Amino acid sequence: MSTLNGKVALVTGGSRGIGAAIVKKLAQEGANVAFTYISSADKANALVAQVEKNGTKALAIQADNADPKAINDAVNKTVSTFGKLDILVNNAAVFIAGSLDQADEMADQYNRQSDINIRAIPAAVRAASKVISDGGRIIIIGSVVASAVGLPTLTEYAATKAAAGAYGRGYAWDLGHRNITVNTVHPGPINTDMNPDEGEFADILKAKTALKRYGTAEEVAGVVSFLAGPDAGYITGASINVDGGILA
Ligand code: NDP
Repeated sequence: MSTLNGKVALVTGGSRGIGAAIVKKLAQEGANVAFTYISSADKANALVAQVEKNGTKALAIQADNADPKAINDAVNKTVSTFGKLDILVNNAAVFIAGSLDQADEMADQYNRQSDINIRAIPAAVRAASKVISDGGRIIIIGSVVASAVGLPTLTEYAATKAAAGAYGRGYAWDLGHRNITVNTVHPGPINTDMNPDEGEFADILKAKTALKRYGTAEEVAGVVSFLAGPDAGYITGASINVDGGILA
């Protein structure tokens, strides 16, 4: 099955984890895929080679998500390389946790987290809206903590993910007249470098899910690919949980 033949996608933060799984899945479905990264050049180049072995094109772009100009340039580079843009996936984010007592000393880290996780979304959507095809797809990666924080120390990160959901709902209205859908996928605990299956929160998080396990990056990528494809044409402004039932 190749639901995305001839499509062009841009995924932010595609060098590792959920973003890399999304790049591979969209490519498997036939899309040419550009993706950004910040520091993992080796992983990014290896991913390009892996994708291209299977017959579609890939492009790795170093672009700091905290820099709106870099994001704008990444959008334009995607179009100048592949000729158009049909699918934008806002995935890149960082996770900074800390107690309220530490908040003052962590202010710089929290500000950067907001720049990467929140401000990058309008930067990417504004740039993409100038070039994305009518009928295109925008998918934002949020988190279940947008709806239920569930633990102390996650407040600042959770607020950035609540913003991701709000952008998804808002842009669905702003772009609906062009038949462009905008949806937010909210993962629960997914085994990546950001949240390893054996990490400090792992046992607590597994116990909170109905399925009693972490999810995989591929289980998120499959939902993103569905939302990017032709069968999801009437889904927009939705928040879709891929969370093992943690919010159920
Ligand atoms: P990882 O930390 O495993 O990967 C993050 C990716 O984002 C990497 O490709 C990284 O690039 C890139 N990135 C980080 N900072 C920047 C930056 N400033 N500019 C450009 N790219 C950047 O994270 P996950 O795969 O786990 O997370 C992906 C998304 O899923 C995020 O939005 C996260 O908030 C969300 N999420 C994850 C959950 C989980 O349990 N894992 C749960 C809920 C939501 P590089 O390799 O160059 O550093």
